[in-house]
Amino acid sequence: MSDVITMTKEDWLAKGTKLFGPDMMTWRFVCPACKHIASVEDFKKYKDAGASPDSATTRCIGRFDGHMDVDMGAGQPCNYTGYGLFNLCPVKVMDGEKELRSFAFDESGTSGH
Ligand SMILES: [Zn+2]
Repeated sequence: MSDVITMTKEDWLAKGTKLFGPDMMTWRFVCPACKHIASVEDFKKYKDAGASPDSATTRCIGRFDGHMDVDMGAGQPCNYTGYGLFNLCPVKVMDGEKELRSFAFDESGTSGH
């Protein structure tokens, strides 16, 4: 397992804004289990299934788009959720006293702007 990065919520927000701009709907996150990349906006249509904008930081979209039966690692996207003992989330965000976990930002295709 790779090292967990710890950052403050302010730093996390600043990094996201720098990578993707101020509109959080366009922010993209990488699933630590299957490496699928989903934007916050992608989760909007699964609102009725319990998805929220927060889902993008802790849940693989496979949980909502019908890939529930796919085993972890067998395909993309998967149904990984970043809660519980097997927490693969690579980013620890400190919000005051609270500790939140998040998927990593997608930093692959954002150079140039
Ligand atoms: Zn996944």
